Amino acid sequence: MSTISHRLQDILATIQATKAATHCSQTVNLLAVSKTQKVQAVREAYAAGQSMFGENYLQEALEKQAELTDLPIEWHFIGPIQSNKTQLIAQNFAWVHSVDRLKIAQRLNDARLESLPPLQVCLQVNVSNEESKSGVSQLELEALATAIDNLPRLKLRGLMAIPAPTNDKNKQRIQFKQVRECYDALLAKGFALDTLSIGMSDDYPIAIEQGATIVRIGSALFGARPSTRL
Ligand SMILES: *Cc1c(COP(=O)(O)O)cnc(C)c1O
Repeated sequence: MSTISHRLQDILATIQATKAATHCSQTVNLLAVSKTQKVQAVREAYAAGQSMFGENYLQEALEKQAELTDLPIEWHFIGPIQSNKTQLIAQNFAWVHSVDRLKIAQRLNDARLESLPPLQVCLQVNVSNEESKSGVSQLELEALATAIDNLPRLKLRGLMAIPAPTNDKNKQRIQFKQVRECYDALLAKGFALDTLSIGMSDDYPIAIEQGATIVRIGSALFGARPSTRL
């Protein structure tokens, strides 16, 4: 078995063990974050059974996709979205996790081809407030969700968040809990959501404990990334 295959088995085992230990019954899907990784690494993960891959940088993602057309990969866009990139994102991904304003949602909706299923969307929520510019504020979340629910070529699935990095498990837990509470509040208002995209290599067990249904994992699967890029 390759290293990637070993790591994949370890992560899947940790996901199951965490669910059992915390009595969580939700389905937890693994999104393999392949940014900065070579096509060969994606092939190895795919061969080991992984089929959902996440990318942050459009140009890099399109180049990788072009070399991987032989594999039925489900591609997720998880990076910041500039409005001049919306057309290519809408045409080349099944999911977008990082929608945080209506203008971007409308552009994705308008560009989504009729021949494709609706684009599956998560709203990125800002729970770390301080320095982070990405993500809709909790105050504006419901209005944005309502507006996006009315866009026919988008399917609103849930929330995504990238908490402020910290090694303090309690702080991680508090931030994930905040996202979870936003998610529960939308469910209570009648939104039909099923996706909570929280948790990365360093904190995914805590995210699962707080209700994650997608964990986005890069370095724990593929190894450390070159430090020049995130
Ligand atoms: C890079 C990235 C990840 C994966 O991070 P790791 O710590 O390598 O697991 C997850 N989500 C987003 C949005 C990212 O940019």
